[in-house]
Amino acid sequence: MKLVFLGPPGAGKGTQAKIISEKFRIPHISTGDIFRENLKNSTHLGKKASEYMSKGLLVPDEVTNAMVEDRLKKKDCIKGYILDGYPRTINQAEFLDSIVKLDKVINFELNEDVIIKRISGRRTCKSCGTPYNILHNKPKTEGICDKCKGPLIQRDDEKPDVVKKRLLIYKDQTEPLINYYKNQKILVDVDAYPTIESVTGVVEKILE
Ligand code: AMP
Repeated sequence: MKLVFLGPPGAGKGTQAKIISEKFRIPHISTGDIFRENLKNSTHLGKKASEYMSKGLLVPDEVTNAMVEDRLKKKDCIKGYILDGYPRTINQAEFLDSIVKLDKVINFELNEDVIIKRISGRRTCKSCGTPYNILHNKPKTEGICDKCKGPLIQRDDEKPDVVKKRLLIYKDQTEPLINYYKNQKILVDVDAYPTIESVTGVVEKILE
């Protein structure tokens, strides 16, 4: 099962990818998470990516494609995987087509006002990375992680100005992928507005 979860930032594709990856026992590969992990470990890749990430810009295709190609060669990818946040440009999609044959692309749809509200509400534990949302997934104590008591922070790229820039880039560079995969007849649209559980239900039905 080789899947791509497509959609604007804030549509919940990461959350869904995590749940579906556990249910179907296939790895969840998020390019954003890999870049952030590299940044945390101060690798060369992490430093390079952070110049773009902090401004809400896309990391160059050559860097991202090479990183994904490496990841997909790992043993755990044999049975399939969920790509989350990749591809994000036509160049990346063409590169991906040149190395694998995808089974399905799930396109999570959500309107822009809701996206901005959702992303601006996100908080992440600085210590363990657990995600929260002050709108619908609050911690028990404000500003403090339920799991490890670490401080909750707002990522630079989740601040309103950067979110707007990311949305513009999404429209310009990533949205054309909807037609790209429609033409390949592997795209399925999913309304990302309902609760996490009901969206998961819809995605599971599609994959069964
Ligand atoms: P995400 O967590 O998926 O929103 O990704 C966070 C940031 O990582 C993005 O805003 C980009 O700067 C970078 N990034 C993640 N995936 C890609 C990709 N496929 N191509 C280019 N840049 C990416």
